[in-house]
Amino acid sequence: MIPFSPPRIDQAVVDEVSKALLSGWITTGPRTKKFEQEITDYTGAQKTLCVSSWTNGMEVVLRWWGIGPGDEVIIPAYTYCASANIIVHTGATPVMVDLNKEDFNASVEAIKAAITPNTKAIMGVDISGFPVDFDEIYDVVNSDAAKAQFKPSNDLQKQLGRILVLSDAAHSFGAEYKGKRIGSCADITAFSFHAVKNLTTAEGGAVCFNMPAGFDHEDIYKQFNALILHGQSKDALAKTQKGNWRYDVEEPGFKCNMTDLQAAIGLVELSRYEENLARRKEIFAAYTSAFEKEEWAIIPPYKTVDKTSSYHLYLLRIAGVTEAQRDAIIQEIFEQDVSVNVHFQPLPLLTAYKKRGYKMEDYPEAWNKYANEISLPVYFDLNDEQVQTVIAAVKHAVQKVIG
Ligand SMILES: *Cc1c(COP(=O)(O)O)cnc(C)c1O
Repeated sequence: MIPFSPPRIDQAVVDEVSKALLSGWITTGPRTKKFEQEITDYTGAQKTLCVSSWTNGMEVVLRWWGIGPGDEVIIPAYTYCASANIIVHTGATPVMVDLNKEDFNASVEAIKAAITPNTKAIMGVDISGFPVDFDEIYDVVNSDAAKAQFKPSNDLQKQLGRILVLSDAAHSFGAEYKGKRIGSCADITAFSFHAVKNLTTAEGGAVCFNMPAGFDHEDIYKQFNALILHGQSKDALAKTQKGNWRYDVEEPGFKCNMTDLQAAIGLVELSRYEENLARRKEIFAAYTSAFEKEEWAIIPPYKTVDKTSSYHLYLLRIAGVTEAQRDAIIQEIFEQDVSVNVHFQPLPLLTAYKKRGYKMEDYPEAWNKYANEISLPVYFDLNDEQVQTVIAAVKHAVQKVIG
């Protein structure tokens, strides 16, 4: 069976984790700090904070920004549930928008139309690793119309004076937008290092800060470092310094720090990340050259003049098939011992969001993308022979179902 997305765990990772285990320091410590610095250097962000997951990190961001009941956060209807769940946790309302025709990302026109005086943030999601239209989103939040109706409800929001631009970059570590790496394209970006993502720490994530001039990034980092550790004014590492045991808690915080064991995996992953991306790119190219001649294949976008994907997911679409035919094709592919997936079931299809009044018919483009989409395996250890097996399995399955 060809798995969909196994982690790349080899002796190098085992050795580095063993070193961390035997170092006497297994919670947040020197390896986490080093990993944060390397992510900052790689992405071009101004400051990075490592956390236990994308979900926990981005929820702390929303709460720090003061988002709560009565507020609205704009997200695409087509994303993983985490993007919306954290908004619900704060008591705010996820306002979902439909997608562009030409890619899987939120339509900026739809974002613009969804803005109200209660809009506090826009969270773009770089689906499959393909960046959203950052410049156009910034044009919208900086427009006179959007600024005029923006209602700040605390000092941070007042200081920014506009809607906050967030980036759900769970898929897009290493992707580029107009020559800049993701992590430095939004006010605040969160990455996921979950086991199936491009870069993994088993579970984990990072928050990259890139606020406009006037915001003090050292101070923001200090605030977040406390927020992710119960609100403690000193973390465990700082407390080990001689006589430095006393700390304060100014506000009850959260508990979602990254451990040095996770950071050990991340440091190895990051050190060979370019090699990982290069292999993913080759696999994308092989899929495209195999499918682009097929009348039934809709090739996903992953490279334009302005955007380069992180090659996270290859979102193949089968033109003209129904949802049931797509499901049958997937079944046929599995019969040939190849694992595939669907990214994503739009949020309005999920009970939690149906219950909250979201309706699939309001997002026709999200439905179009979902109904005929099949995600193919892409990972460093997938060899050329396996790539050919995947291609043959997909062709055979499509042939069998649609003739
Ligand atoms: C994986 C994923 C997340 C959540 O990441 P975790 O690190 O598991 O919390 C959020 N958004 C998207 C689009 C994802 O794919």
